[in-house]
Amino acid sequence: MIENFKPPRNQTQKQPPNLRWLWPLLLGLVVLIISCLSQSCFKKAPVPEPISASPRCLEKPQSPDADGQVQPPSPVASPEPDHLFTWTIASGDNLSAIFDHFEISQGTLCQIVAADEELLALDILRPGNTLTFTLDEETRQLLKMELYVHPGKRIVYQRMDADSFDFKEILTPGDWFQQVIDGEIEGSFFISAINSGLSEQESIIITDIFKEKLNFSRDIRRGDCFQVVRSREFVKGQFTGQSRIEAVRIIRRQRLHSAFLFEDGNYYDLKGQSLARAFRRYPTKRHFRVSSHFSRARRHPVTGRISPHNGVDFVMPRGTSILATGDGRVTRVANHPFAGRYVEIRHGGHYATRYLHLSRILVRRGQSVSRGQRIALSGNTGRSTGPHLHFELHVNNRPVNPLKAAIPLQASVPQKKINQFKERAVELIALMEHPAKNLALR
Ligand SMILES: [Zn+2]
Repeated sequence: MIENFKPPRNQTQKQPPNLRWLWPLLLGLVVLIISCLSQSCFKKAPVPEPISASPRCLEKPQSPDADGQVQPPSPVASPEPDHLFTWTIASGDNLSAIFDHFEISQGTLCQIVAADEELLALDILRPGNTLTFTLDEETRQLLKMELYVHPGKRIVYQRMDADSFDFKEILTPGDWFQQVIDGEIEGSFFISAINSGLSEQESIIITDIFKEKLNFSRDIRRGDCFQVVRSREFVKGQFTGQSRIEAVRIIRRQRLHSAFLFEDGNYYDLKGQSLARAFRRYPTKRHFRVSSHFSRARRHPVTGRISPHNGVDFVMPRGTSILATGDGRVTRVANHPFAGRYVEIRHGGHYATRYLHLSRILVRRGQSVSRGQRIALSGNTGRSTGPHLHFELHVNNRPVNPLKAAIPLQASVPQKKINQFKERAVELIALMEHPAKNLALR
């Protein structure tokens, strides 16, 4: 009987009090649909796009858009005022198109590239590097461009006057952490090294260290082992991309090959004998007159401005043979509007040399070269007042005076340092035999 007191379901829905509850809900739904339609939100993907490090409109590379439209920069990542633009480099990007994209003139780009002549930092933009442009709010003239390379390195190009910029490198020294990496050969050394956690660059450095002693494709076999002490630099917990190989042991059946990095940046075996051939001081057979020395502040012969001169200029006839000053690998072959045709060689991970204003280059990027090998012919290309060679030496990514720097010019650790070297080698061996994870250095 009680069931009879319960009204039928359809009648319940018709009850006025329930309808009153539904009205606001229905009204809200209608408003929501209308507002969504008007904003075309249904036309978009249902899942919101993740905000990437680079603003959405910048993901496109720079060749002029198909429809000829230049898209305005969109403040997606962080709201920016309209005189500040950021561009995150993607592979295939080039500066000229980036400047076009922001409607900054090619003439201004030329002034920036001129300021970069001593650094050549803009020649190796890597995916993930960021460029930040600051314009004058009224004249829209470029005041400043900042290149963010990694957490430990930024370069600021600042306008000096109507037609020139200067540069400032802002370096934040990081903390180095040491790590032991070991592995067994399966397939090639290179593949096994990568599989154990070494980078391609580090694996190439190791094969270069032993270049004179070991033929990696013939001598290394499955079951051979390797141990590596590697240090990496971190700034605020972020890897800067800088690493160094401190020690390597390759254990082949009955033979052991060792390499230890010493304070001069060179690698030596257990007895203190150099694994690479010693450096040459000069990049030519004959010594030529120096027309401009290495200097932190010199007056530029063409522009008259005071700026660093990161190399030494030798006056020599066009076509003089230029020799690699050490064993190494060609990392750059480029043609720069101001530095001219130039070559960069890295020697064992700590040293690099650059040869500028060449007339002809005889090597290609990635090629392994030996000390004394002819790599180019001198010339007068780029911004140059006459035939000369501009020669640079970099130690740990910093330019130094190539005529004075302490470079390994001998085939072994000097006698007065041999005990210090041996102590260091013993420490590194102990570390490889009893690896501790991620030791902080200093
Ligand atoms: Zn020079």
